[in-house]
Amino acid sequence: MARYIFVTGGVVSSLGKGLSSASLAYLLQSRGYKVRLRKLDPYLNVDPGTMSPFQHGEVYVTDDGAETDLDLGHYERFSGILAKKSDNITTGKIYSDVLKREREGKYLGKTVQVIPHITNRIQEFIKNDVSKEDFVICEIGGTVGDIESLPFLESIRQFSNTIGRKNTLFIHLTLVPYMRASDEIKTKPTQHSVKELRSIGIQPDIIICRSERSIPLDQRKKISLFCNVSIEDVIETVDVKTIYEAPISFNKEKLDLRVLEYFKIKSKKKVNLLPWKKITKLVLTSRNKVDIAIIGKYVELKDAYKSLDEALTHGGIANNCKVNLIRIESDKLKASQIKYYLSSVSGILIPGGFGKRGTEGKIAAINFARKNNIPFLGICFGMQMAVIEFARNKLKIKNATSSEFGSSKASVVGLMNEWIKDGKLIKGTNKNLGGTMRLGSYEARLKKDTLISNIYKVQKINERHRHRYEVNINFRKEFEKKGMIFSGLSPDNKLPEIIELKGHPWFIGVQFHPEFKSRPLSPHPLFSSFIKAAKINQKK
Ligand code: GLN
Repeated sequence: MARYIFVTGGVVSSLGKGLSSASLAYLLQSRGYKVRLRKLDPYLNVDPGTMSPFQHGEVYVTDDGAETDLDLGHYERFSGILAKKSDNITTGKIYSDVLKREREGKYLGKTVQVIPHITNRIQEFIKNDVSKEDFVICEIGGTVGDIESLPFLESIRQFSNTIGRKNTLFIHLTLVPYMRASDEIKTKPTQHSVKELRSIGIQPDIIICRSERSIPLDQRKKISLFCNVSIEDVIETVDVKTIYEAPISFNKEKLDLRVLEYFKIKSKKKVNLLPWKKITKLVLTSRNKVDIAIIGKYVELKDAYKSLDEALTHGGIANNCKVNLIRIESDKLKASQIKYYLSSVSGILIPGGFGKRGTEGKIAAINFARKNNIPFLGICFGMQMAVIEFARNKLKIKNATSSEFGSSKASVVGLMNEWIKDGKLIKGTNKNLGGTMRLGSYEARLKKDTLISNIYKVQKINERHRHRYEVNINFRKEFEKKGMIFSGLSPDNKLPEIIELKGHPWFIGVQFHPEFKSRPLSPHPLFSSFIKAAKINQKK
């Protein structure tokens, strides 16, 4: 039977529960165990798919087409375990499910209530789709004390009671602030947070203390005493210089060992930290650097392009260089300023996006990259904008646009009519917006002797998608005549998946999101190649 590890957070949000869970997963896995990671989110949206990145950061997409919390990205990148639809649930998903059952008469005669109906359903989700795993790590979003996370906490309490306390481990992550004025480390917020947790019946077994500085023994003792955990189970996590250090530092603090000791099991293998040590050293000491401009609508919020930032760093790891990201707000990028902003960069990237705002700045930047031989990578919306730029300036379709911005006769990018998923025909829509895009992993076939087939070195690839609009294949001949090659297509040859430019050193647009599949320990070939091209182009 799987053992369950529940990770809660206290005092403040954004303490790094996701990274802590992901690091623990790596360590347990490295010790020979099969692990699964899950995220339970307390908000009312059914999934984060319809939320603005300003609200919730990036929407991460899994192979099986779920739009999920960005923490699932951390999980995949650190553990290499592919996340699934069943690994992310929200209050919205639980409620819509319970209410659907109520309408179907499944609870006939009963009053449907938070306890037991919502809490039971949460527990069913926690258990669902788990078979051979030794450990299931479930992170509870939000902070202890929030009204909306209460049903989740109640559920995990009940769950541990059902499967037995010895099969459940509670980890609580808190902030231990350092007060500069008095030069002191304060344990009181942790004490309060644990008190809150205990008031709902959960006694943490391990407390992870996030702190700016190392926590002295006296303060650890205090936490141990007041929070009722043994001193060895007070684990500190001091801010690391790079996130790749996290598995190393948790291992140093013996987090993985404490977990195994709790469950009374032994390590099957010696933990392997070498890959993390190697990349940490590389990231911290590399003296080469490339400047990459990312032009998007949400650049002010770092988490909005989390996987992308990571994938670019991975590209740097593959090329032994640091990637310096220059974030440019597309809305503010006027054609007259393009030269000023972009002359000195070595590569230009336009990420995924939605809506008309900021598109003219993106198109102007693409024009600059195309004409000045600057390595360019357009992802999803970025590819669509590259096609519009080319249509306007090379095909002379002056009003070329996307039907995402309104109906037009010159939509070189249009609403996808239909596509095939698992043998079934799916119809595109722009009315019902939740979960109706072309989502998840789809195959693309690459044209021989193209830049892209040189990069992937295979003919068939599978990449993750998240789009509603698509480059209109009917324009293909006209584009190819002018030098834009459709170098990757869906297996039925209907959907352009990749474009590139003849005669340009490195200009690629992809309809999918390669960033979701890049890993620090195995950088994605597209990002490795992009950074390599940028490195060659790096201005001194
Ligand atoms: N808005 C575009 C579409 O829906 C691009 C989406 C994206 O970049 N993820 O097709």
